[in-house]
Amino acid sequence: MSNRPDRVKIGPLVYTIEWKGQDWEDTNRLLGQCVPSFQVIRLSERLQPDRMACVFIHEIYHALADHMQCFNKITPEQSASVAGDGMTMFWIDNPDAFDWYSGLIESSTTKRY
Ligand SMILES: [Zn+2]
Repeated sequence: MSNRPDRVKIGPLVYTIEWKGQDWEDTNRLLGQCVPSFQVIRLSERLQPDRMACVFIHEIYHALADHMQCFNKITPEQSASVAGDGMTMFWIDNPDAFDWYSGLIESSTTKRY
C-alpha cells in the first residue's frame, strides 16, 4: 500500500492533509474536516481502512465542490458533476493518493482471493 498522502491537488490548488490524533477527534468531534479557504484537509489517523476511505472521499468531495463553486444548495446535476468530473480530475492529478486509496479498499473487501 502506498503511503498516506500529505498533499493533494484540487484543480489549481494544493491542499495540505493534516493527520490528526484522538485529542483532535475528541475536541472537535470530527473524523475529517475540509477548510477550502486555508486549503487544508484534516483526517483522523486512527480510522479503520474502510471508514478512512469514506471520510477521505467525503472531504475531497467538499474541496471539489468548493473548487467547482457549488456553494450552499447544490442541485443533483451539480452534485453529479462534482462526482463525475471532479473525482476523475482528482484521480488523474493524484495518482499516489489513488494507489493509497485503492489499498484501503483492497484491505476492506470481503472478496476471497
Ligand atoms: Zn462534510
